[in-house]
Amino acid sequence: MTQDFFPLSPSLWAATAVPAPETHPLQGDAKADVVIVGAGFCGLSTALHLAERGVRVTVLEAREIGFGGSGRNGGQVIPGLKFDPSELRALLGEEKGQALVDFAGGTADAVFDLIDKHQMDVPRVRRGWIQGSHTPEALKMAERRVRDWGREGVATQLLDRSEAARLLGTEKYLGGWVDPRGGGVQPLSYVRGIAKAALKAGVTIHTDSPVRAMSPITGGWKVETASGATVSAERVVLCTNGYTDGLWPQLSKSIINANSFQVATGPLPETIRKSILPEGHVSSDARNLLLYYRIDHEGRLIMGGRGTFREPSVDEPGNWSHLEHAVVKLFPALAGTPFAYRWCGHVAITRDYLPHLHEPAPGLLIDIGCQGRGVGLQTRMGQAIAQYIVGGDARALPVALSKIKPFPLYGLRRLYISAVIGWYRMTDGGV
Ligand SMILES: Cc1cc2nc3c(=O)[nH]c(=O)nc-3n(C[C@H](O)[C@H](O)[C@H](O)COP(=O)(O)OP(=O)(O)OC[C@H]3O[C@@H](n4cnc5c(N)ncnc54)[C@H](O)[C@@H]3O)c2cc1C
Repeated sequence: MTQDFFPLSPSLWAATAVPAPETHPLQGDAKADVVIVGAGFCGLSTALHLAERGVRVTVLEAREIGFGGSGRNGGQVIPGLKFDPSELRALLGEEKGQALVDFAGGTADAVFDLIDKHQMDVPRVRRGWIQGSHTPEALKMAERRVRDWGREGVATQLLDRSEAARLLGTEKYLGGWVDPRGGGVQPLSYVRGIAKAALKAGVTIHTDSPVRAMSPITGGWKVETASGATVSAERVVLCTNGYTDGLWPQLSKSIINANSFQVATGPLPETIRKSILPEGHVSSDARNLLLYYRIDHEGRLIMGGRGTFREPSVDEPGNWSHLEHAVVKLFPALAGTPFAYRWCGHVAITRDYLPHLHEPAPGLLIDIGCQGRGVGLQTRMGQAIAQYIVGGDARALPVALSKIKPFPLYGLRRLYISAVIGWYRMTDGGV
């Protein structure tokens, strides 16, 4: 069952995004070459790139386009993964590691190129991503990252304390580094833009169509929605990520679907707007429980970070107060500024902090896990999945197909996560 999370409407994105294309629930019995479950970046990018290769695709979405992480994220387009190039090569071996480095290094390009190619109406900026360093250890990490990505040909830049203060608009960091490939997009507009491009390429998208069952049939799969409507297809691709339900055994237990919370001010006065991230960078810091922030295209400050594991109530703004305090500590000029929006969503964290692809049965492909960095990753993953489905060569995929491995003691995950969060809060230090 898909759980009932906030509808998109209270979130910032619905208020500032381009309108959604018109779509309807699935009815009757339909046929396609490929059925995709989930209309986020991954599902829609896969659908678009398959349709461009002549494949008949139907996308089934439980709620609305971009309902999951794709419509409600922070809009930061950050290339790379949690691990740096040298770590990935050490982890996976020279050849596979380098292939993943090349893939992950190109994820921001994939977003901005796709927007340009389809002339999507997406507010965007590409002036780079800054990772602020809050401790001497984090500063050492920044030096390492600058060196590591620099060896890959990226024009990274190390920031000392005063440069970081100037570019971030806060004195709270000891320094940091800039990755010039990063940027920002209005995410709900972007996911709707991919949906529009996919529809134009011939994809069928059904919203309000939660998939409740999948059964193998001769030559493929029959997928059934809650209303009893079906689609039969040769292949199924599950792109449900942090919103994964019980559709496939053990899949939801292979991730921790942690909540990430966000707040946004209204459009800020010009003088304050120009003092925060004045050159248009987006930023997230190096804490374990990181803070991420940017100024959007209409001058709002958007700040994201940790949140409770349980679903919060929008009627209890206290659930977001830690973020609102962090905003003022970082940017004292914002003291007293009201917050116009509060919302949250699920991020899929895997055991090894890497994205996973599974093929647990013939004709069924599953994508899962993006550790909160999915705008670029899932866009490019969709391209790779489409290439794999059409060409049949698993080397097109950035990570090897693997078995689904549930977290051990999954039932205790909330206790475990609370303990980890408590520990990180102590060791990360206050803002
Ligand atoms: C608050 C927040 C902030 C974030 N900030 C950033 C950021 O700044 N930068 C960044 O790169 N990443 C960020 N992320 C992560 C990023 O948003 C996700 O990694 C990405 O959107 C995942 O895309 P997806 O297509 O894989 O899955 P999703 O967009 O989550 O889509 C999955 C879809 O599957 C649907 N679904 C589930 N079960 C079924 C079913 N049975 N039948 C039909 N449909 C089903 C859901 O309704 C959902 O729409 C953030 C995430 C959150 C939650």
